[in-house]
Amino acid sequence: MHRPTFEGGPLSPDGPDSAALQARSKGLAAVTGEVVDCFRCPRLVAWREQAALEPPARYADESYWARPLPGWGPVDARVLMVGLAPAAHGGNRVGRIFTGDRSGDFLFAALHATGFATQPESVVPGDGLRPIDLYIAAVNRCAPPGNRPTPLERDTCLSYLVRELALLSDVRVIVALGAYAWDGILRALARGGSGSLATAVRPRPAFGHGAEVAIGPYVLLGSFHPSQQNTFTRKLTQAMLQGLLLRVRELAGLPLRP
Ligand code: SF4
Repeated sequence: MHRPTFEGGPLSPDGPDSAALQARSKGLAAVTGEVVDCFRCPRLVAWREQAALEPPARYADESYWARPLPGWGPVDARVLMVGLAPAAHGGNRVGRIFTGDRSGDFLFAALHATGFATQPESVVPGDGLRPIDLYIAAVNRCAPPGNRPTPLERDTCLSYLVRELALLSDVRVIVALGAYAWDGILRALARGGSGSLATAVRPRPAFGHGAEVAIGPYVLLGSFHPSQQNTFTRKLTQAMLQGLLLRVRELAGLPLRP
């Protein structure tokens, strides 16, 4: 059976690479290699593979990636965006984060409108889409049953985010897509995303759409997750998300009109 190839990992900048940048790129590529070959959570390994064996009728003829999804974006990104986990029949199917489902469509429409993506559609790897000034990752890299990883699964997978944070040293703004990601980022920072920041996140800041908190060299910014539950009910609209992303540009020192 043909298996889709994944798209993710570090994207090299267009300009001349410095040795330091190349070293970070190599580091991120190493993390990517470990992520896509990870089998540390037996329940999630079984779930990602079961999704491939029992697809909904509309995907019955498709081969699934059915592996973990790495982070994706330029090594020198100034913004890191973190979601919960891949969707069982979205990213887990096609092999790229926030791709092949309604959440990805909604998110990339807003990212393109605000200068963070080369195009508004996120269909399949190889469709030409690239994040700009933005690295996209998730707390958990495998699709979990009911969108709910266990605390052990969360903590096991967080080691990848911790390592990415250390390598993405140009990041100034971290966007949490939902309360789960907000919590995961705080845990990753406390583990040493950029030195020991454990004391800097006490008392623990509360998640909210538009919530901002300065933590060490970063500003952490909360956004409602672009899940269908939130977008269909208009708890999160395009205007809300685009407004938040323009605030991200401002905080990251990026031009408001790219
Ligand atoms: S959730 Fe993370 S740690 Fe667990 S198997 Fe998937 S990639 Fe590995």
